[in-house]
Amino acid sequence: MRHHGIHHVTAIAGPARRNLDFYTRVLGLRLVKKTVNFDDPGTYHLYFGDSLGQPGSILTFFPWEHVAPGRNGVGSTQETAFRVPEGAFGFWMHRFIEQGVEHGSVEKRFGQSVLTFKDPHGTSLSLVGIPNAEAEAAWAADGIPAEHAIRGLEGVMLLVENGERTGAILTDVFGFRETAREGSLVRYKTDALMGGTVDIRSAGGFLPGRMGGGSVHHVAFRAKDDADQEEMVRKLAENHGLQTTEQKDRNYFRSVYFREPGGILFEIATDEPGFAADEPQDRLGAELKLPAFLEPRRGDIEAHLPELA
Ligand code: ZN
Repeated sequence: MRHHGIHHVTAIAGPARRNLDFYTRVLGLRLVKKTVNFDDPGTYHLYFGDSLGQPGSILTFFPWEHVAPGRNGVGSTQETAFRVPEGAFGFWMHRFIEQGVEHGSVEKRFGQSVLTFKDPHGTSLSLVGIPNAEAEAAWAADGIPAEHAIRGLEGVMLLVENGERTGAILTDVFGFRETAREGSLVRYKTDALMGGTVDIRSAGGFLPGRMGGGSVHHVAFRAKDDADQEEMVRKLAENHGLQTTEQKDRNYFRSVYFREPGGILFEIATDEPGFAADEPQDRLGAELKLPAFLEPRRGDIEAHLPELA
């Protein structure tokens, strides 16, 4: 079960430069891969994560220079949560005020401290206090002491009309189990250290979400390898009547996609081969990496991508 949980979350941002600055400098994540959207190579695909780029630490963005704002609503991911040590809230509250980050106040959810905030393009985020997280390795970023640094993703909150069928997929296919209920929220967990929590809020009759700037595009769940992924695809078809796309090679993982019954796009991504597939661990994110099929167009692609710094 430690190999299950969330692999990555992908969202839509505004201009790339601001996106990069916020996640690396303000939040202190590592840029673990700088590439393009394989299906739309005129735009970046930026991957942020922990020092090793481990599954469960990864938040990725399609930064679009001109994007209309999205709207959270039914059939969308309402919030993406990061793990921080329990004692880190004073530091982050101060940093958000100092950096002009829109934020709420520290609240309690399922007994945990949660601080909600937004990135510059409207993505809803939160920090969740995790006991003993300070003992886990942290990426060193300027002005963020290791004792307070983010330790990967905690999870996501999904907003759907009726969460029952979505929850059944989490438990039957992705290795989660229901652990708690609070109001209209149901919590599902795996044993994974990072990315092991999904909260589902059922809100029948609420406005539907609209994809745009600040929206989560999809949530990817982990499969150990191709065989594990194949087994998940089989279960989706046999037990839930859902078909996935054919497998796509994303260079750092291999993926299939499907829309879950609540309307949210889910992906199943393999842990293999990982982000060190095309550059050494200590150089992750340093250069623009392209898949082999786009290498012949590198000159043209580089000339049209916006400046990052
Ligand atoms: Zn993805």
